[in-house]
Amino acid sequence: MRILIVEDEPKTAAYLRKGLSEGGYIVDCAVDGEEGLHLAQTGNYDLVILDVMLPRRDGWSVITELRRAGKQTPVLFLTARDQVHDRVKGLELGADDYLVKPFAFSELLARMHSVLRRGSSRPVETLKLTDLEIDFPRRKVTRGGKRVDLTAKEFDLLSLLARRAGEILSRTIIAEQVWDMNFDSNTNVVDVAVRRLRRKIDEPFAKKLVHTVRGVGYVLEDR
Ligand code: CA
Repeated sequence: MRILIVEDEPKTAAYLRKGLSEGGYIVDCAVDGEEGLHLAQTGNYDLVILDVMLPRRDGWSVITELRRAGKQTPVLFLTARDQVHDRVKGLELGADDYLVKPFAFSELLARMHSVLRRGSSRPVETLKLTDLEIDFPRRKVTRGGKRVDLTAKEFDLLSLLARRAGEILSRTIIAEQVWDMNFDSNTNVVDVAVRRLRRKIDEPFAKKLVHTVRGVGYVLEDR
């Protein structure tokens, strides 16, 4: 379980890092909003603990950008301000829960577990990115209102890219998740499959959604 902490107060950040590391979590820390947003967009986190008042970019702006990019990582807001309108604003912007400083560590853990549980028990059923629509339970894909026929593996590949839209996925991650292959396997199979998928969902259309990130992997997003 990987957690990103975005917090500019060294004491609070150190307290969180220590407690969560001891609890077996892998923890990364960012000290301002820009760094936090960058890590949240490019890293592979199960949860972001996000302070509201941050240098360079505040927590509101971080979550707004994150959700705009299609990133659905659960976010737990952390703030010293306990006014109701802050709480409502956070939730409206797509935060999953809210914790007011100072807080007991047990309280944080309880909120974290509830956010993580909710996250996994509410799978996204359908997803729309511009004119691409995916119906996960029916394994049905349409683009521009027209049905696109995919093989089982092509659908799995598209599902992975779509569920993590906006996130750059390495060939290794894709190979692991779609083919259940590990690390040292030949990841050329990923490139071949992506090429086939593109031929069906991208090539006939002006707007491309699957992008290659040279030397890294692939990302599905509306650019
Ligand atoms: Ca702060």
